[in-house]
This record gives sequence, C-alpha cells and structure tokens, in this order.
Amino acid sequence: MDSIRNLFNIGNGPSSSHTMAPQKAAKMFLERHPDADFFLVELFGSLALTGRGHLTDYVIKKTLGEERTKIVFNLQQSYNYHTNAMKFKAFKDDIQLEKWLIFSVGGGALKELDEPRYHSKEEIYPHKTMNEILNYCKHEKINLVEYVDRFDPNIKDYLQLVYDSMEKTIEKGLSTSGVLPGRLKVQRKAPSFHKQYLQNKSFSKLLYTYALATAEENASGGIVVTAPTCGSSGVVPAVLFACRDYHHISKEKIIEGLMIAGLIGNIIKFNASISGAEVGCQGEIGVACSMAAAAEAYFLGGNNEQIEYAAEIALEHHLGLTCDPVDGVVQIPCIERNAIAAAKAFDAANYALMTSGIHFISFDTVVEVMKETGHDLQAKYKETSTGGLAAK
Ligand code: SF4
Repeated sequence: MDSIRNLFNIGNGPSSSHTMAPQKAAKMFLERHPDADFFLVELFGSLALTGRGHLTDYVIKKTLGEERTKIVFNLQQSYNYHTNAMKFKAFKDDIQLEKWLIFSVGGGALKELDEPRYHSKEEIYPHKTMNEILNYCKHEKINLVEYVDRFDPNIKDYLQLVYDSMEKTIEKGLSTSGVLPGRLKVQRKAPSFHKQYLQNKSFSKLLYTYALATAEENASGGIVVTAPTCGSSGVVPAVLFACRDYHHISKEKIIEGLMIAGLIGNIIKFNASISGAEVGCQGEIGVACSMAAAAEAYFLGGNNEQIEYAAEIALEHHLGLTCDPVDGVVQIPCIERNAIAAAKAFDAANYALMTSGIHFISFDTVVEVMKETGHDLQAKYKETSTGGLAAK
C-alpha cells in the first residue's frame, strides 16, 4: 500500500474520477504539448455516459483550451482494465504528436495500461490486509495510530492540511444557500439544518448538517478532500468535526482519527476498489462510512479489534449499494447518502464498542466480498446513470 496521503486528495468536486483525475491528466498532457494546435480527447465507459453531468468535458476543455479541444464521448468501445478510460491526442500542423491512454481508477488516481491495477509504484506499508496489520500491532504492542506513524512518515503534517481544508469546506457549505448547479434545481440544505441544530442541539443533527455542507459544496464544484472520493467526501469530515464540536475531541485526536480512517480506506483501495464506476456506491459511500466508523470507534476509546469491527460493520451494511445518480450529477442520491452514512458510521462504532471486538466476519472478508459483489453488479448500477434511480 502507498501513503494514505494519496487517498486524501484536495481539489475541486464534483467527482474525483470524473473531474479531479481528468483535470490532472489534462494538465499532465498539456505540459508535454504546450504548443499543440489541436487536442482530441475520447472518453469511454462511465466517463462517456455520465461525463457531461460530472463536468468531465468542461474541465478537460478548460485545462487544454476551449478553442483547440474536441471531446468525443465513445459509447461503443470499453476497456477491461477499468471502465473510466481517456484517450488524449495532440496535433500540430496536422501531425499527431502523441496518443496517450490513461485510466481514472477512483479517488482521483490515474493509471496507465501497463501499470498493475491495484499495486502502486510507491508502496511504503509492508502489510496488505487488516489481519496482517492487527497481528503486527499485537506483536509490537502498538495501536493503529502508532502503526500509521511508523510506516507513513510525516503524514501528520499533510493531515493538518487535510483538516484545514475539510474545516473550510464545512464553513463554506454552512454559509452558502441557494440552488445547486444543474437541471435538478436541488436546494442547498446545510444552512437550514444548521439553524435547526442550533435551536435544538443533538449529535445526529450536527452529523447531517456537516455532511450536507461538504456534499453540497462538492456538488457545486467547490474544494473538497476525497475521503475516499468526492461523491462521498461528506461522511468522514461530518463525523470528525461533529465529534470535535459536540464531544470536544481535540484537534490532535482528530488528526489521529484521520490516520485511522486513511488506513481503512487504503486497505480497501489496495484490495478492492474505491471507484463507483467499478464496484458501485458501496465502494464510495460504503468505504467512507467504514473509514468514519473506524475513526469514531477510536475516539470512543476502542482498541484495535473494536476499530476493525466498526469498520467491518459499516462496510458490510453497504454491500451491494448501487451507483445510480439522477441526471448523471453527484446530487441525488449522493448528498443525502453522505448524511445518512455519517449517522450509520456512528451506529457502527457504538455497536462495536459494546462488544469485546470478537466477531464472525472479518473486515478483510467484507472487503473481498465487496469487490466480488461490485464485479457482479450490472453496468447500469455503476455510475452510468442508465438504471436504478437514474432511470425513474
Ligand atoms: S451514487 Fe454514490 S458512487 Fe454514485 S456518484 Fe453518488 S456518491 Fe458516487
């Protein structure tokens, strides 16, 4: 596994796979061909089907130059490596300078066809599964925060930036009202939820409020942190900052919660997927809920086994969750789903803390099942907006 830094990417929403990664790829291609007089970009798979709603064409054109860029939505061809493929071509004086095939594999990450799909060039963690990590921690008598600290040097400095960015996004979401971009005319709800929270305070109201604030900012193309993706970026900050503000958890401890959440997301990213286009929403909201539940269990004083159990419960109860965004935009069901998953994370942590941590299905098993289930899901339920709620 590589650094958890690569899981928490800071950038503009609404989609890590459909906007963040394509923008990154376009920037890389532009650096290689700044003098090209024409760019042709072909989008495949879910990028071709829901790219318009997710602003994929918009960010690519904006990055390469509106006038000299043509986008083709190729609905006929697809790649087995990953559905989200992009083919960039640069031309000068009618001569093709380069053809580049690149894949957006989830959470803002890019991969080329000759790269291993799941492994990274920069692996720094010696263990690959939660079971291996728990055994190591037991042997070394350390907790999961100490584990991350040992193998991911300087991660706390980066997580300070993540903390600041998440905080700013929540503040912006709470102070912005109106309608979100797109045909659905979805009304922002975070400010009114916040008002209701202030009138009659409860932890669950604060969870909903903070999740909505981030998810609405994401839907409007604001800056968010992928946790693990843009579409699911409201769950982890909702739990962390609601714990900070309602239960008075210190900033230092919140950073440690990010370490735990990042470790969980990383294990899933390495062994399964965090891409809605590949495994459905279980790989986005399900993973976010699992990450948040683990952090929450840590705040509540859970030991390594109870944290693992909380993460397992949260993911298990999202198995099979489909990705079917209405009108191809990250709004319905995505925004509400962030708020409900934040509340579920809290329940998963509470439940796990009422046990000794011993349980039947391991986190690693659920990760494996999530991957299998995701591959068994029909394409219409994997960010193509051709089935489920999107077809109603
Ligand atoms: S339904 Fe889930 S996976 Fe699909 S776009 Fe929305 S948040 Fe992402």
